[in-house]
Amino acid sequence: MTWSIDITPLNDLKKHEVGGDCWCNPELNEDGVWIHNSLDNRELTEGKPHA
Ligand SMILES: [Zn+2]
Repeated sequence: MTWSIDITPLNDLKKHEVGGDCWCNPELNEDGVWIHNSLDNRELTEGKPHA
């Protein structure tokens, strides 16, 4: 079973998709975590595990 974690900016102006198909062009780090980019380059504040 595989699952990933998405780190997305909290309350960003635009809703993020999970995984690599997001508009923000997220980066998959070595731990298998998708690091999303905020619309206004704020600090990342939230991690959401998902199946
Ligand atoms: Zn995103």
